[in-house]
Order: sequence, then C-alpha cells, then structure tokens
Amino acid sequence: MECFSMSRPTAKVAIVGGGINGFSCGVNILQSIPNTEVTILAEVLPPNTTGDNAAGLIFPFAINETKMESVLKWVKETIVFCNQMSLTGEAAAAGIFPQSGFYVVGDDDNALQYKDILLTFDVISAEKMKVIMPSINSKAAFATTYVMEGEPFLAWLTKRFRRYGGNVQQVKIHSLSELSSKYDIIVNCTGMGAKELVQDNEVFPVRGQVIKVKAPFIKHFFIDQRNDLTMTYIIPTSETVTVGGTAQKGNYNVDVDLSDKKRIMDGACRMIPNLKNCTYIRDWVGLRPGRRSVRLEKETMHFNGKTISVIHNYGHGGAGLTLSWGCAKDVVSLMKQDIANKISSRL
Ligand SMILES: Cc1cc2nc3c(=O)[nH]c(=O)nc-3n(C[C@H](O)[C@H](O)[C@H](O)COP(=O)(O)OP(=O)(O)OC[C@H]3O[C@@H](n4cnc5c(N)ncnc54)[C@H](O)[C@@H]3O)c2cc1C
Repeated sequence: MECFSMSRPTAKVAIVGGGINGFSCGVNILQSIPNTEVTILAEVLPPNTTGDNAAGLIFPFAINETKMESVLKWVKETIVFCNQMSLTGEAAAAGIFPQSGFYVVGDDDNALQYKDILLTFDVISAEKMKVIMPSINSKAAFATTYVMEGEPFLAWLTKRFRRYGGNVQQVKIHSLSELSSKYDIIVNCTGMGAKELVQDNEVFPVRGQVIKVKAPFIKHFFIDQRNDLTMTYIIPTSETVTVGGTAQKGNYNVDVDLSDKKRIMDGACRMIPNLKNCTYIRDWVGLRPGRRSVRLEKETMHFNGKTISVIHNYGHGGAGLTLSWGCAKDVVSLMKQDIANKISSRL
C-alpha cells in the first residue's frame, strides 16, 4: 500500500546509512506506515556504497552465527519480493532476474535447508559432479535463485524512495545524539560504520576482492566457498561476470592485491577453463560488514532528556542484498509496535 497524507506525521524517522539496507528500510517504512516522514542520512550514497558493486546473487553467504531460522525467513521475504518484481515491466531496470547455477555443498549441512527457500535446489552427487566439473571433488546442488544486481537495484530503490516522499542528506553522523531533537525514531543501517557510531566491537570487515570481466559464454553461476582461503565464485549478471573471491576477516585493505588477483583467476580457470577467453574489465575490493550475527533489534536510548527508539539493522556480512528485504520488513514490524506502544501510553 502506498501512503501519502497531508496530516501531521505520526513519526519523524531518521535512517542512518544509505546502502542497500538503509534504502530498503526507507521504501518499506514509507510503503507500510502511514504518516511517517523519513530521512536517510549517509556519508556515502549510491552508486558508491558496498552493495553497488556486489553481483547481488540472492544466496545466504557468510552470515556466521546468525540463527538459521531468521536467515531463512529473511531470504524467503527477499525471494518473494524478487519474484513479484520479476513479473513486472520494471525488473530489467531494477537489475532483478532469475539465475541458476552450481553450488558446491561440501560439509555445509545448512545448505540443504536452502531447498525450502530458493526456487530450486537439487543435489548432484560427487560422482556426477566429477563428470560435469572434474576439479570439484564434492557433491553440489543445481539451484535457481534471483540476482538483485547491486548498482541498478540501488538506483531503482533510491528513485522509489524519493518518489514516495523520502528525503536524503549526505552527511556523516558522529553520534546518534545529534538526531535526538529532530527525530522520534532512528534506524541504524550503518554496516561497518556501526563499529564507530555505536561502538560495536563485534563488527569486523570481511575483505572481498573480485574481478569484473566480459564473458558472455558464462550462463550459470558457480560457487565453491568451502574454504575461505581458496574460495572461487563466478556470477554472471546483466552485462558482466563477477569472478571472486576472498573472504579475509579483519582485513581493512581496500587496495587490489595482485597475489589475490592471480589466485582468483587461476581458481576460476581451473573450474571453467574457457574463462581464460574472457575480457578483463576492472578489479574491485569491498569490505563486507561482518558480525558474529546480524543485529536486528530495538534499543531504547536517552539523549538530552529525550527517550528515543533506535532500531539497529546491520552486520549482514556477505548477504546484505540477500537479507535486505526480509530485514526491512522486520524493521517495519518493530517500528509499528513502537508507534503503537507510544500512542497507547499517551491515552
Ligand atoms: C566482494 C563482495 C561481493 C558481495 N556479493 C554479494 C552478493 O552476491 N549477494 C549479497 O547478498 N551480498 C553480497 N555482498 C555483501 C553486500 O554487499 C553487503 O552485505 C551490503 O552491501 C551491506 O549493505 P549495508 O547497507 O548494510 O552497508 P553499506 O552498503 O556498507 O552502507 C552503509 C551506509 O552507512 C553509511 N554510514 C556508515 N557510518 C555512517 C555515519 N557515521 N554517518 C553517516 N553515514 C554512515 C555509509 O556511508 C553507507 O551509506 C558482497 C560484498 C562484497 C564486498
């Protein structure tokens, strides 16, 4: 439901963070909670956020100890959203399309539960994989999910947010207390920035280096992330193929590492020898906002005599796009509860 009203806002909401999670929350709040006024305040905006360069495969990567039950619920919501989008004429502009490929399962018992949420997830025996891809000595799955391609999706989302009446300000926030006089509710979607903004020492970078190439003969994704040090993934999106990668915990280096680059390309060519015929486009390094588990909860904070509800939504690791829509729906539920509590306490 789209809600627009000229009456006094029920709540003035500040979202700190203008990445995939900030904008997904912004659009969901404006769609679902009447009379809210929503402002996104962010130091970095699309097309320069972490998610802009991500291939955006909807797959639960690197979520550490986040409860599997929550992960499955959030991914499912994002899949439902992608499915609805894929049936509209806006899907191509938003970078959303179904994509199939091979996922090496190894000992990842959690992966077998993806059967319940992805569009398809059919296990292939190690013997059969030896024929399909001799370098893989393990069972795998042939799965179908969606791609929510970072840059076009964030551009679409930003437009949608503005169309619903959302405001955007490019600014660095040094303390949440700066926002207490102007806003009733704060949503914290600062990713890695939460380490400094709310002094969360559980936040750590998971360094990801990838190579973007042109390889129109790659029609499926291939993912082998059994080992953080030797992980290989190949994900085709609308124009390019993302070849990765690294998952280096605690590493803040955003420069291209030439030894990583060589290992990534060698690994990908071992998997698909034909990749040696690709055309190089560019390298990219990003820091996934790692955390022991995603932080999605409400905290009541007191600033200058005012009580403010802060809803935290950060620490999505390598699955920020994958979890985005589901997490935004939970932020909306927490916010609705909070508004209802405040209204009933005034009666
Ligand atoms: C190589 C690589 C590949 C990836 N591939 C995938 C994939 O295929 N699928 C998938 O689901 N995920 C993928 N990811 C993960 C995904 O990109 C991230 O999880 C996601 O982008 C995190 O989004 P976010 O909105 O939480 O944080 P960010 O995008 O990092 O945004 C944080 C926002 O907060 C703002 N901010 C922070 N601190 C402050 C402050 N103090 N004041 C004001 N603003 C502040 C920033 O400026 C920014 O706007 C990948 C990541 C990498 C690095």
